Amino acid sequence: MIIDQEKCVGCAECLSICPLSAIRIRNKKAYIDEKCSDCGACFRICQNSAICAEHIPTEHYVQCTSCPIECKIKKGFFGACKRYQNRNGELNRVIKLKTYADVKDLVGETCREEIRHPLITGIGAGTTYPDCKPAPHIVQNKVHGIDVVTVVTEAPLSYSGIKIKIDTDKTLGEEGSPIYFHRRKVGHLTTEEYGSKMLSLGGVNLLTGRDGLFVARLISDVANRKKVRLKIQDGVTLDLQVGGPPIINGKKDYLMRVGCGSATLGLFAEIFKKVADEVIILDSHLTGLMSEHTAGVYVGVAPSGVRLKFPRSTPGRYFGDHGNGWGGTSIENPTDVIASVDTTVAKPGMLVLITETTGRNAGMFQLTPEGSLEEIEISPAARSAVHTIAETCENSRVSGIYCGGSGGSARAGVTKYPIQLTYAVHSNKASLTVAGAPTFVLPGGGINFMVDVEKVMPGAFSWTPTPATICPIEYTMTLEDYRQMGGHEEAIKPFAEEG
Ligand code: SF4
Ligand code: SF4
Repeated sequence: MIIDQEKCVGCAECLSICPLSAIRIRNKKAYIDEKCSDCGACFRICQNSAICAEHIPTEHYVQCTSCPIECKIKKGFFGACKRYQNRNGELNRVIKLKTYADVKDLVGETCREEIRHPLITGIGAGTTYPDCKPAPHIVQNKVHGIDVVTVVTEAPLSYSGIKIKIDTDKTLGEEGSPIYFHRRKVGHLTTEEYGSKMLSLGGVNLLTGRDGLFVARLISDVANRKKVRLKIQDGVTLDLQVGGPPIINGKKDYLMRVGCGSATLGLFAEIFKKVADEVIILDSHLTGLMSEHTAGVYVGVAPSGVRLKFPRSTPGRYFGDHGNGWGGTSIENPTDVIASVDTTVAKPGMLVLITETTGRNAGMFQLTPEGSLEEIEISPAARSAVHTIAETCENSRVSGIYCGGSGGSARAGVTKYPIQLTYAVHSNKASLTVAGAPTFVLPGGGINFMVDVEKVMPGAFSWTPTPATICPIEYTMTLEDYRQMGGHEEAIKPFAEEG
């Protein structure tokens, strides 16, 4: 890249984004040095169009093709991600491939097999109150010759919530929008994950707020896989049940998108090139244009002259928008995504297939001698290609992850020295399960865990008007470790009596 010194105003925006620190400001003008790998980040951010491509003779760089950025890396320098270096004209990975042995100290061991599963679950265990008393059940048994103890309780947790994952490409509303249950605010639409929309429901601030009772009931209902109806502010109405398909504004959604528009081209370019001269995959994140996309070029697709109206990320990959149209974009009439067709490149009769990442909608268009696109019947071969996308999609479904915090008083029923339990959980000396299901314990302080509610018996969660949700929890460890942490040894009962 080079800077047009006339247009540069010295704002330093480009400097702040350059991953290789290749830009300097001198006398209120930006300059780019030889570290530049032509990644284009500065070009995209510059408000004054002061950055433009520079012709670099090919013998001066090695082009990395490990991602769509395709950095041009000069001798001794690095690509934008700093993973690749040009060493004497050869592209080299900066960090060597690691084996498990290289990382195992950092990763840490999982719990030893003897304590991985609880002797009994917390389902039906009841709760002791106040918390300083021993937990309702502390049982001991031998597992593979080792004395093991499980401590169980049904813990009332004010620090609890549930994340709902909905596998859909449909637009549900704007991220951050409040979510209502019986007209009470119970959460918000949070950041989208690959192919899925995410809802964050509950959490201590809503549970201890004005509508906490509704929040507690909702978390418990979702975790027990009951049907619930939610309304997103300025967005859709959702009828959800964990394990089932989402119902969005009264319509059942069936398919999870196969990937973004770019990924869809990566997966199927070979098939698409046999059915059309150009293929556009509409998607709200990245809309794909086959003839420009690396996958299309790789399989030998010729330039088509088609230009899209969305902003370009890298060749053949365009940032989409959000709406109620195809692929979760605002495009309801598929040819509206096309900004222009360069008729000096395109030939009359050229076939353009437009579809989306689920293959739900598809249309075929032909270039007329006058240069416009006319809809024609989709050919059986093109229909079959679109069908291949749909067949590769997973079913759209709703999943739920319960999040709880048992780092507070709920530890007192286990041991007289609660901090020892926290250390034991974080060092895998004690395993934390929910109704027998494995949990993911968040790093850092306290005992914040997550569990897939589909691994927990329906009905195992409940709620109490404190308000809090009630979660069956088990801590399992060796008898020796239980003694060492100052556990309530006097309350231990043999498994045969309790089980
Ligand atoms: S193209 Fe990339 S590496 Fe080069 S100056 Fe711009 S941001 Fe930095
Ligand atoms: S993988 Fe890294 S070095 Fe290679 S093109 Fe992409 S950003 Fe550049």
